Amino acid sequence: MSVTANGTDAGSGDGTVAQALARAGAAGLERLDAQLLLLSALGRDRQDRAWLITHDDAPLPAPVRRRFDALCARRLEGEPLAYLVGEKEFFGMTLQVDARVLVPRPDTETLVEWALELLAARSRPRIIDLGTGSGAIALALQRACPDAFVQAVDRSAEALSVARDNARRLELPLHLRQACWLEEDAGGWDLIVANPPYIAAGDPHLPALRHEPVSALVAGPDGLDDLRRIAQAAPTQLAPGGWLLLEHGWDQAAAVRDLLRSAGFVQVASRRDLGGVERCSGGRLET
Ligand code: GLN
Repeated sequence: MSVTANGTDAGSGDGTVAQALARAGAAGLERLDAQLLLLSALGRDRQDRAWLITHDDAPLPAPVRRRFDALCARRLEGEPLAYLVGEKEFFGMTLQVDARVLVPRPDTETLVEWALELLAARSRPRIIDLGTGSGAIALALQRACPDAFVQAVDRSAEALSVARDNARRLELPLHLRQACWLEEDAGGWDLIVANPPYIAAGDPHLPALRHEPVSALVAGPDGLDDLRRIAQAAPTQLAPGGWLLLEHGWDQAAAVRDLLRSAGFVQVASRRDLGGVERCSGGRLET
């Protein structure tokens, strides 16, 4: 990867921005990924793609080229771009992420939008986000509803420390608690949200997700273990009229709606993500 077309070692020569990007493209990297990795290797803001374009003949110092090549090699090996650059955009916020947490997905914004519609009519709502990971959902809700009390729960102490750092950086008051779903929970929530693991053990897509924490992805033989547990535990922890919203897999909507109805929820419905897939389902606890 560090050898240029004329056979000289790019690690010791004077490769330019354009040459580095061309080399990454020839190795199989998408152009946008290569640009973002080069900005990261340069220590520049990821909004600076215009700089790359206007400086395509700028020479890159050897240490920058070495950092860039190493990042490209990791990306080609399947590491998520978000881990390599250390951040990911979610609902208009920049979250810092690393291998301790799942990379926030745009699909999850569907759940946040639904939650915000439900919250519009409430003042000082009490919200709990189960399996918060980077804090993505909890922070998006807290940011949009400054008078809400938002608790972010995760079983992983490492994930909680990522969420804590994100809350601090975004100057949002997040209440963190280490627990498995709703265990030892005080209850009285107006809204329970969760993006739990929902991939079936043995799912053929898992190898592509191997860099992310398996505990955030896999939930038993049908992928429904955690969704089932949360749906069953939620009714006793919700305030009357409270809602439970769950993200789930592309083919799980009907199963999750059944779980919600069997647990006693009403107004059970599903919402589609940007790809048109039924991505989350929810219901209301009767008053
Ligand atoms: N949406 C993720 C994926 O399919 C999985 C997230 C999850 O299991 N909660 O890549």
